[in-house]
Amino acid sequence: MELLIEKIKNEGTVLSSSVLKVDSFLNHQIDPHLMLEIGKEFAQRFADSGITRILTIESSGIAPAVMAGLQLNVPVVFARKRKSLTLVNNLFTASVYSFTKEETSEISVSNQYLSENDNVLIIDDFLANGQAALGLAEIATKAKASIAGIGIVIEKGFQDGGSLLRDKGYRVESLATISSLDDGSVSFKQPTTKTKVELTR
Ligand code: 5GP
Repeated sequence: MELLIEKIKNEGTVLSSSVLKVDSFLNHQIDPHLMLEIGKEFAQRFADSGITRILTIESSGIAPAVMAGLQLNVPVVFARKRKSLTLVNNLFTASVYSFTKEETSEISVSNQYLSENDNVLIIDDFLANGQAALGLAEIATKAKASIAGIGIVIEKGFQDGGSLLRDKGYRVESLATISSLDDGSVSFKQPTTKTKVELTR
């Protein structure tokens, strides 16, 4: 997605060879126009998948997930990371190791908002080692919901998450894929284009 790639090039800060900071439009301040375009792109890619609900994780997954939910006309539920006095009973839970916080937390979703009748699109901001997406998939599985796919705003293709999830058979759609953050700069994986091969006899 060209608009997103330009935004990352112009505003992203490489914190290390494995961490990209995009606080100006996704992780702290949010660019609503970009989020809307991201929502449209996810909606277009999963238009024929029969999505009934979007599942994300607080907090940075919420903005892109809401925009996708708006476009697909389905509700958005986000897994909570912290215990809440109002979220106590009948929870689906999973343990998730956070790549950025370097700690494990229990994430939860109320069974009021996810069921076996759902066909879920999982959305998150970044894909690194795949633990957040796997935790969300575990929650959807506990709810006996189907998983139509996983939509990621920024995939770091040099980490294991993408292959882990794809090897498990999940359809993963990433809007921008970074191939390297080495030497303080961001390199992108080129989108694969289908080339027509002429057969000569
Ligand atoms: P994973 O669970 O795939 O290892 O990591 C994904 C989660 O960690 C995302 O929800 C995201 O919040 C955070 N994350 C992973 N890598 C980065 C990164 O390079 N930059 C930022 N800002 N967050 C990241």
